[in-house]
Amino acid sequence: MITSEQVSFDQQHIWHPYSSMINPPPMYPVESTSGVRIKLSNGQELIDGMASWWSVIHGYGHPDLNKAAHEQIDKMSHVMFGGLTHEPAIELCRKLVKLTPSNLDKVFLADSGSVAVEVAIKMAIQYFHAQSMPEKNKLLTIRNGYHGDTFGAMSVCDPVTGMHEIFTSLLPKHHFAPAPKIGFSEAWDEKDIADLKSTLETNHQNIAALILEPIVQGAGGMRFYSPQYLAEARKLCDQYNVLLIADEIATGFGRSGKLFACEHAQIQPDILCLGKAITGGYMSLAATLTSTKIGETISKGGAGCFMHGPTFMGNPLACAIANKSLELLENTDWYNNVQRIEKGLISGLSEAESLPSVANVRCLGAIGVIEMKEAVNTTEIQKLFIERGLWIRPFGKLIYVMPPYVMNDEDLSTLTTGMVDAVACYNY
Ligand SMILES: *Cc1c(COP(=O)(O)O)cnc(C)c1O
Repeated sequence: MITSEQVSFDQQHIWHPYSSMINPPPMYPVESTSGVRIKLSNGQELIDGMASWWSVIHGYGHPDLNKAAHEQIDKMSHVMFGGLTHEPAIELCRKLVKLTPSNLDKVFLADSGSVAVEVAIKMAIQYFHAQSMPEKNKLLTIRNGYHGDTFGAMSVCDPVTGMHEIFTSLLPKHHFAPAPKIGFSEAWDEKDIADLKSTLETNHQNIAALILEPIVQGAGGMRFYSPQYLAEARKLCDQYNVLLIADEIATGFGRSGKLFACEHAQIQPDILCLGKAITGGYMSLAATLTSTKIGETISKGGAGCFMHGPTFMGNPLACAIANKSLELLENTDWYNNVQRIEKGLISGLSEAESLPSVANVRCLGAIGVIEMKEAVNTTEIQKLFIERGLWIRPFGKLIYVMPPYVMNDEDLSTLTTGMVDAVACYNY
């Protein structure tokens, strides 16, 4: 059991994500996790609607993943990747090359999603630098995007939610097009991509890459846009000699109903970022994949190599767990589970549409979103969720869930019913 002294130490000394040191929000101490449940130290069990930020797709404490972790830690927990290699990394990269779009066959293992994005950006810049086009060193992105919290990643996050004004003096200036407006299943209209197109027309000489989250804009607004937008963006990139970086850190490994969200538009990116669910939520690991052409071009440049190499690159423990997680994904019919969860979310959340405080309800794959008319107080509404035995962490106007794929129908129904009920009870 956690002591009250420990809780107050936490409050006084520990930063949590996006938290204040003057007025820290309440933190719920967790004792253990199992399946789709989080057990608090007061004994209460919560059904997890967040999959620990998209990552815990197979549920907590999966016996196969635990076994893989134990076996690997007894053999080798870590060894440097410079000049050394090992089976867990080789087999993981073999799987990634096989699962991802066929043009992607060079893998860089990074230690977090943000680093995978930094790596992708550096690859794009080095690619043009190596071809004596150093002036192609800007990025293009769309508003409402989220790509991580490090400087390179932050420079392509939405300027408002990414708080660009605080960091203006340090952030490189990139090109921003408006966010796509046409929803996932709405009729396509070319006007939606007109701005992106004209930005490319005018500035392509200094743009190295377009970076975007395919189909699902996650932390920047939980928006689902038309696959036609993505298909058109791919064509424009080809036309203007601009690389397409797909940030699938949130969407990768089945979340949107396809193994990778790019498949909704049947396109292949030039560079692909993966993370979050890659180890089933056990450890931090990410990957950036690219094509032979890009990999070889970079290597022919002045530097003669790709300029990046983190200390914990290719961590064997993380790779061994990722291997097992991908094996589970292939063997456990993730597709039908995600379809089943999508149905459950659609039917369970539809009732919220008629609530006066609700602006919009939308679901795609194993992602369900209730968008409110006004921003909610996270601490207040979270109390209502906890009373109903649920773990959900809203931000701004968005109350959303992305459950582990293994959540059964009964728990899913408890989750959606409680979510709608709490929203109905919530007073501004
Ligand atoms: C979470 C996320 C990141 C950043 O990943 P971290 O592991 O938190 O650094 C980048 N891009 C997208 C789309 C994400 O959802």
